[in-house]
Amino acid sequence: MNANIIAIANQKGGVGKTTTSSNLGIRLVQEGKKVLLVDTDPQGSLTISLGYNQPDTLPITLATAMSRQLMDEPLEANAGILHHKEGIDLMPANIELSGLEVSLVNAMSREKVLKQYLDTVKREYDYIILDCMPSLGMLTINALAAADSVLIPVQAQYLPAKGLEQLLQTVNKVRRQINPKLKIDGILLTMVDSRTNYAKEISSLLRDTYGTKLKVFATDIPHSVRAAEISAEGKSIFTHDPKGKVAEAYHELTKEVIKIEKQRQKAKSDLLR
Ligand code: ATP
Ligand code: MG
Repeated sequence: MNANIIAIANQKGGVGKTTTSSNLGIRLVQEGKKVLLVDTDPQGSLTISLGYNQPDTLPITLATAMSRQLMDEPLEANAGILHHKEGIDLMPANIELSGLEVSLVNAMSREKVLKQYLDTVKREYDYIILDCMPSLGMLTINALAAADSVLIPVQAQYLPAKGLEQLLQTVNKVRRQINPKLKIDGILLTMVDSRTNYAKEISSLLRDTYGTKLKVFATDIPHSVRAAEISAEGKSIFTHDPKGKVAEAYHELTKEVIKIEKQRQKAKSDLLR
């Protein structure tokens, strides 16, 4: 195995990055994949939402793994990885990660520290999903440098224009300078209120602006209180509300993600032939 690494990124806060990371990840597990979630946000929201309520008490977190990488004394491959009861693995985070981010500024290969760590574990997984923090700082750059592709959740009520442009510029810069193979999986519209037309308007606006350069996922994630509840429950939408529309949507999104990857693999093997 050699994991397919997906960064879930948008520097705008509260757009559904963390919710998408855990539910896409857990659905991939239900499809028989081995999946590692990596919390790259010092707030530890992903860690907390999976039921590890006090991330500050965890002995090993991503900050430990990355600082050991910086010291050139890598952790043992599986050290610190938590096993959630829904079958997914998690490298957790807590506030220590913001101290680590500061120390990266003067480090050698500072953009590649997360990649170096993931290189030590990626043989064990089919997918690694990186939940990014709401900024375009050094931790997000590390995530983009380590990823094969980026999935961008956008909240359907707000026109993403400026923020999205900045994010795409950052992706391009990472491509040029660090990670030429980085791809954009697409924009995922989240918290879609079926009573309004915002989602349709934003989709067509994005299509007008970016054409085929930027795909918008066919699946939207509907707005639902059931989805908002799960972060306090420590479980996925598939356990909390398996028959609901949000579970259905994350199921469909997962199929799209698997399909994109299959197409890429096929394109690759056609090229080699
Ligand atoms: P941050 O930028 O702070 O990391 P985020 O982009 O990771 O935020 P989430 O934490 O996933 O966003 O979601 C923001 C809030 O919206 C959370 O309270 C979450 O429970 C809620 N939420 C997420 N998805 C939905 C949804 N489909 N319907 C309703 N509420 C949702
Ligand atoms: Mg988050």
